[in-house]
Amino acid sequence: TIYLDHQATTPMDPAVMEVMQTACTQYFANPASPHAAGVRAFREVERARSAVARFVGGARSEIYFTSGATEANNIAIKGMADRCPGGHIVTAATEHKSVLDTCAYLREKGWSVTVLPVDAQGQVTADQVAGHLRDDTVLVSVMLANNEIGTIQPIAEIGRVTRQAGVALHCDATQGVGSLAVDVTELGVDLLTFSGHKIYGPKGVGALYISNRLTDTAPLAPLMHGGGQERGLRAGTHNTAAIIGLGTAVTLVEEVREQEARRLEKLRHAFLTELTAASGTPFRLNSGTGPDFLPHTLNLSLEGVDAQDLLPRLAGLAISTGSACNSSAQEPSHVLRAIGLPPEQIKGSIRLSFGRFTQESDAIDAARYLAGAALPEGARG
Ligand code: PMP
Repeated sequence: TIYLDHQATTPMDPAVMEVMQTACTQYFANPASPHAAGVRAFREVERARSAVARFVGGARSEIYFTSGATEANNIAIKGMADRCPGGHIVTAATEHKSVLDTCAYLREKGWSVTVLPVDAQGQVTADQVAGHLRDDTVLVSVMLANNEIGTIQPIAEIGRVTRQAGVALHCDATQGVGSLAVDVTELGVDLLTFSGHKIYGPKGVGALYISNRLTDTAPLAPLMHGGGQERGLRAGTHNTAAIIGLGTAVTLVEEVREQEARRLEKLRHAFLTELTAASGTPFRLNSGTGPDFLPHTLNLSLEGVDAQDLLPRLAGLAISTGSACNSSAQEPSHVLRAIGLPPEQIKGSIRLSFGRFTQESDAIDAARYLAGAALPEGARG
């Protein structure tokens, strides 16, 4: 199989697997236990916390480990909402479901939610955000980069607006941190979330950054109550091996991020060149290139093709139609709808995302394979 679905999840880097294996044997003790074995495990968890803090430009005391970005987004949004019952939240139409559905839940419970529309590229502007802030706005939540079309949002500009207004800004950076250097101070964000399994780390672990400014006076309300781990915000015994794996994953990202971004952009270009040359089926790009888009994402619509019919013919190629998180719902992608694509173009849309272990030959083979499978029946070789 040629794996081109790195936005759904990434394979683990062998270096991450290695440290996790060691962690499972050497650091199995509960990091909350006071005995020597527990203390050794605790030190490794804290080492990972330092790595994550460096990765986002925060302090160690501002990092909380969670089970992933879904949980981190829930804690961030519900935790902030809880500070102002019935208050107002601003988000954007192309956010991940873990943000949109959390906001929809809060709306049902009496909060007021503004979902900002995006432009044809999938961007919101800082002016849009500024225009919708109210006296009772408790949180603005905008993602760093989109998981279906790769659009990068102008977070630093939005951050200047929210800072000036004294409103907290949350950024779901799950899809961005692998490609973009992130600094919470430069971005002006107060809460930031991401996940291990999108950056060659393990599944089931994520990180939440919360600025100490926000928690100086009172902590955020937790979703789960229990043992008081993670300073009471996320109870439950630490997933030590996964946390240690996440610490290694972020360190590796920092080492290779820039060169990988350039390499992946070239792979994407090679794929598109080959697809254009080999394809008898016209296609349209739904994602873009350049500084406003992730370098490894490609979303395109094949004309006259239903992507749902196409996928079974592409058994050797792991790609997705729209967002993998939505594919069981079988409803048209909310992201592609938000950028104004007509239904037939959404129907023909596929998402490919290249990754750390993708070779140029994979990209070219995938383009040829796709071109062949997309031809009308009878014209396929
Ligand atoms: N946010 C974004 C932008 C994502 O792409 C994803 C994963 N599809 C998530 C949040 C959820 O991450 P997790 O799988 O770690 O819960």
